[in-house]
Amino acid sequence: MKLISLEKDPNIQINKEIEYFLNPDFLYIPGSNIKVTQNEVVYKDMLVTKNYTSPVSGIAYGTKKCLFGDGWQKALVIENDFRELKKQNKRDHKTTIKNILDCLEENHDYELLEKFRSQNKFTNIIITAINDDVYIYNNIFILKENIAELLELFDELSLIYKSDFNYLVVKNVDTMLINECLNTIGTYPNIALTLVNDEYLLGRLEFLASKLQIKGNTLYLTTTELLKLYNYLHERDNTTLLLTVAGNALAKSKMIRVKKYTLLKDILDKYFSVINNDYQVIINGLMQGYLVTDLNNFVVDDNVFAVNIMSDLPDQEPKCINCGKCIRICPRNVNPLTKKNIANCLHCGLCSYVCPGFVNLRAHLRGEDDV
Ligand code: SF4
Ligand code: SF4
Repeated sequence: MKLISLEKDPNIQINKEIEYFLNPDFLYIPGSNIKVTQNEVVYKDMLVTKNYTSPVSGIAYGTKKCLFGDGWQKALVIENDFRELKKQNKRDHKTTIKNILDCLEENHDYELLEKFRSQNKFTNIIITAINDDVYIYNNIFILKENIAELLELFDELSLIYKSDFNYLVVKNVDTMLINECLNTIGTYPNIALTLVNDEYLLGRLEFLASKLQIKGNTLYLTTTELLKLYNYLHERDNTTLLLTVAGNALAKSKMIRVKKYTLLKDILDKYFSVINNDYQVIINGLMQGYLVTDLNNFVVDDNVFAVNIMSDLPDQEPKCINCGKCIRICPRNVNPLTKKNIANCLHCGLCSYVCPGFVNLRAHLRGEDDV
């Protein structure tokens, strides 16, 4: 299958340095079964709702209905005391298969646990610093920010899982990062720096493995996932998130590290200036993400990694001209018009992207719109 490169607006450039917003006044923690009472003192990393811990120390202030990626839900509001007080002592886990599984279980990270569970050997380990969508740079910046720690853990994984091939995959357009990798990777001769073209969908194992002709049992992690594992094993701070905030309606596009459960509006008001008042806010990518209309109540949680702020396009009347491009481009043999084979759909957005008739096939595939 031929992969394509997505067009990019050269005016949207990301700042090279990461900014930090780690001291919001209030945080909004999702989850039912609130485990603290109003005005109770809360410590950093304390379990305060059924599945969620507080990223700061402070006071339980009350509750509020907030918008998260998976919909509206009640949130516990914590008033930050800016002291970052913790109850537990730090532990340092050695990198062993048992410790990896225990740490992932303890931190309720079942998605990552699934990748490691019941495997004692991987033929290949692939770590990618790729984000598929345009104007998203999280995996690249996470590698740049933590390169020594991530290469050290990668090397340890290759030893304990006895992998035969170890690939660190970077796009060949990310030259700034390639130079940094070359400077550090020499210490790890069993890790191969592997460069790929800037083609859409190479961030998914299925397409990357086919491109690199990799066969066999493979552990596939992004640099974001590898950093999470490192933080669990070393009890390092896991209470922050790296966000890409980019778009043509912003004066400057930037990477920003924020506390989990911060209101998006607080971040935007403090660190970004909008240059066009007619804009849309899209979470997690123009190709695969979703629109947010209620900015005042949207909370940034673990599932948010990018915010694109794009000027509204002039309204185009959608009209199918039966050109068949959407069917030909589909990597999964889905017919986006008739929805034949829809169970195989990746919701990758390619069919909408190539459509010359401006038909919103993504919405059609989700059952929200007719063609
Ligand atoms: S929906 Fe768009 S891409 Fe698909 S056949 Fe119609 S005009 Fe062509
Ligand atoms: S969104 Fe679904 S139907 Fe459209 S190109 Fe991607 S996989 Fe195919």
